[in-house]
Amino acid sequence: MIINMRIIELNESTKNNILENLLKRSPNQYREYEDQVAGIISDVKKRGDEALFEYSLRFDKATITKETIRVTEEEIAKAYEQIPPSTLDVIRKSIHNIEAYHQKQKQYSWFDSEPNGVILGQKVTAIDAVGVYVPGGKAAYPSSVLMNVLPAKVAGVRRIAMTTPPGADGNVNPGTLVAAKEAGVTEIYKVGGAQAIAALAYGTDSIKKVDKIVGPGNIYVALAKKAVYGNVSIDSIAGPSEILVIADETANPRFVAADLLSQAEHDELASSILITTSESLAKKVSDEIDGFLEVLNRSEIIRASLDNYGYILVAKNLSEAIDTANEIASEHLEIMTKNAFEVMTKIKNAGAIFIGEYSSEPLGDYFAGPNHVLPTNGTAKFFSPLSVDDFIKKSSIISYSREALFPVYEDIVTFAKAEGLTAHANSISVRFENDEV
Ligand code: NAD
Repeated sequence: MIINMRIIELNESTKNNILENLLKRSPNQYREYEDQVAGIISDVKKRGDEALFEYSLRFDKATITKETIRVTEEEIAKAYEQIPPSTLDVIRKSIHNIEAYHQKQKQYSWFDSEPNGVILGQKVTAIDAVGVYVPGGKAAYPSSVLMNVLPAKVAGVRRIAMTTPPGADGNVNPGTLVAAKEAGVTEIYKVGGAQAIAALAYGTDSIKKVDKIVGPGNIYVALAKKAVYGNVSIDSIAGPSEILVIADETANPRFVAADLLSQAEHDELASSILITTSESLAKKVSDEIDGFLEVLNRSEIIRASLDNYGYILVAKNLSEAIDTANEIASEHLEIMTKNAFEVMTKIKNAGAIFIGEYSSEPLGDYFAGPNHVLPTNGTAKFFSPLSVDDFIKKSSIISYSREALFPVYEDIVTFAKAEGLTAHANSISVRFENDEV
């Protein structure tokens, strides 16, 4: 199957057309589902478990009851028997790398004390209970379990409740169960979609409410997370996957083509873009893509994705390539050029940056250690990858002795009065109504 990927000269006008086209992929384009999602959420709030069981039957064709909604230790033990030992082995190796990387992100409480009796500080506390949504439906995502659960565990979250839709037989994918057990999930529930998000946000008899919900899912899941935000915290809303490769004439066209295809296979809305300073590389990459398509499984999805959002752009020079990459702010950015680390220093906006020709994107999806939950759709301009920070919160610490407060109390009274808040002023001055220290 030949695709003949578009090779386009990069200029202001082609860049603007591409930026506009990419924005069509935003989850904000799916407002028509909002009413349905709001209906499911209010039904779960009203009828609790009964609503969950009904929706599981309707959408997942699964009969779930109070007795079967929570995955048992026996089911988990059976899952270990169902997966190949090599899968368990790689799950454990990945956990090792992901934990080691996230340990480095940990933040600690700090306290500063002055000799005059002022103590100021910041206390770091893990969020108490987190819900992790793991998509079920069409595929299994053990890597998604690890990437969402492990930062929470490293942060010190006490309760990690996972929900995932069951198959029609009422079972959950064994790879998902094993990954959850290995990562330290404390409870697993068989429920998917907007109803799962509602249960985590408001609680039912079977599923206790959590404080924060993370994890990817389809449009029903994404809109439900948006709808419950405020009652609980959420991570960002993930859009379709994307890759941008910056390459010069030194890049290996086979590697570049393979990496573009690795994202295109996700779904029809995924975006794969090459920006190169070499017209000859552009042509070679296009040919390699056609060659690979003969042997890859998901060629229909890849063809649609490349047709919709795939581009090979030829830039006048490296600095034009870098500026455009910064404007697109891709989820994944690969640099395959001379002096790739120097190019990296000029990248301002990207979810994850892969440097050099042996750092292909799936290395980050599964194994290297950094989180694969990344900002999409240009949001790398202001969002960061999922991290330990998403599972902690901070409290400010303030302690003044009488000796520390006395010399400054009139300043504070003056400020409070300037705002017309006499009770504020009073709560300071009352402490010195009998004056001296
Ligand atoms: P899912 O678990 O997200 O959705 C399945 C649920 O959707 C069902 O349980 C059902 O409750 C609900 N649903 C289905 N049809 C419905 C309808 N007509 N009305 C109301 N609710 C309905 O699984 P999925 O559908 O396979 O989607 C998985 C998504 O997650 C994909 O879009 C995939 O790309 C994405 N994903 C993203 C990442 C990432 O890291 N960004 C990782 C893995 C998966």
